[in-house]
Amino acid sequence: LFLTFEGIDGSGKSTQCRLLAEALQAQGREVVLTREPGGSKGAEEIRSLVLEGDPDRWSAETELLLFTAARRDHLERTIEPALEAGKIVVCDRFADSTRMYQGLSRGNLRPAVDKLHQLMIGREPDLTILVDMDPEVGLSRAKGRQTAEERFEDFGLELQQKMRTGFLDLAQEFAPRFRVIDGNRPVETVAADVLTSVQAALT
Ligand code: C5P
Repeated sequence: LFLTFEGIDGSGKSTQCRLLAEALQAQGREVVLTREPGGSKGAEEIRSLVLEGDPDRWSAETELLLFTAARRDHLERTIEPALEAGKIVVCDRFADSTRMYQGLSRGNLRPAVDKLHQLMIGREPDLTILVDMDPEVGLSRAKGRQTAEERFEDFGLELQQKMRTGFLDLAQEFAPRFRVIDGNRPVETVAADVLTSVQAALT
């Protein structure tokens, strides 16, 4: 089973990924917890190239190619081998993030995003949890842990709002595989809802 988490910065999806992985492991299941950009040696190297240093180093188009290259490596080296071995893969961000960040936020690249995805990735998760979050809350959370290399964190409220709406639209577009979970609640409450959704997909 291939599970992904999506959401705006500060939505709490990374925490939820970890809690879900722990809950599934506690049930005796084999879980691979991974993330994007990154998740394999090569993809982590590409992550550094893209997320560190001069924000204007790459054009939006080049950045899309780099993210796609990273995803391809991650898929080949980490995700597919784990799925073939019967493990559950829990991934923090996947192609939906590219549909949003490279497809919507940095330019109007969605047609190119879709073509590249079809050509080079071609796989969708079995289930995607969208952790929906009030953009203002997400913003204050993300600000609290900002680090120098996280050049992507754009702290404009307007952009966060656009991303939130974009993710909700995406959940409609790919409705059967998305579950939208209200992230504006205590961590344990959100985690319980996530586990219920995943448990249903496992049976
Ligand atoms: O999920 P995480 O916070 O680690 O993501 C790091 C940054 O990379 C985020 O700020 C996100 O905006 C950005 N990103 C991106 N395009 C992607 C995936 C992540 O711009 N496809």
